[in-house]
Amino acid sequence: MPEVVLQDVAKHYGNSIAVENMSLRIGDGELVALLGPSGCGKTTTLRMIGGFVDATSGQITVGGRDVTHLPPNRRNMGFVFQNYALFPHMTAAQNVAFGLEMRGLNKADTERKVREALARVRLGHLADRLPRQMSGGQQQRVALARALVIEPDVLLLDEPLSNLDAALRHEMKIEIRQLQQSLGLTTVFVTHDQDEAMSTADRMVLMYNGKVEQVGPPDEVYGRP
Ligand code: ADP
Ligand code: ADP
Repeated sequence: MPEVVLQDVAKHYGNSIAVENMSLRIGDGELVALLGPSGCGKTTTLRMIGGFVDATSGQITVGGRDVTHLPPNRRNMGFVFQNYALFPHMTAAQNVAFGLEMRGLNKADTERKVREALARVRLGHLADRLPRQMSGGQQQRVALARALVIEPDVLLLDEPLSNLDAALRHEMKIEIRQLQQSLGLTTVFVTHDQDEAMSTADRMVLMYNGKVEQVGPPDEVYGRP
């Protein structure tokens, strides 16, 4: 998987600065957690990497390719949102199939990939359920399957656990980390939860006020317990 490099990336909204001079290298197969208080610029950073927010300045490359001003559909990234963002009128399988159909993949291959993706998140038996017929954890696993089915170069997770109860959060955290490691996916994980970041990330990026305060493996950033 390619590495993601941010070089002097900034995002301004009028006179207000959401992200300032951000430079960061996310290695091949690495899971980096962006951590910090509400409003510090985590989501804006993730959205710039994903192409949903256009950087004001700086450069973002993926495997050496400049993607700074490319739209999301030309970056080959999988995105999982806090609120799952599933289409409510579509079944689990249809939700997962959507991105493949958009890419014009034929019916037989779409069906096979959808089945594989749902099996990977242990939802093969719920393929025909609608989102409202599934638990929060199941919905989030559909969202994960939808992100993975396109075989993304990079996985972007925006507070993917924060709508789940504590037990599910723990379970999903382990599941996401296992999937990410087994697929060797370069991953950026936004969270405001320090324990979540410490127990999943290879490296943590502490942000404050739009700036990177500290970068390092969890035990370097917080010290060994
Ligand atoms: P976090 O994800 O860490 O909570 P955000 O990236 O959402 O932080 O926001 C960083 C800053 O940018 C905040 O001050 C926020 O109010 C501001 N901001 C985010 N999106 C917009 C927007 N569309 N217009 C204006 N300001 C924004
Ligand atoms: P269509 O629009 O082709 O009639 P649907 O809207 O029911 O089909 O589903 C869209 C796509 O979702 C299908 O082409 C198929 O690839 C996938 N799909 C739907 N249900 C399943 C399922 N149970 N298992 C695997 N894939 C499915």
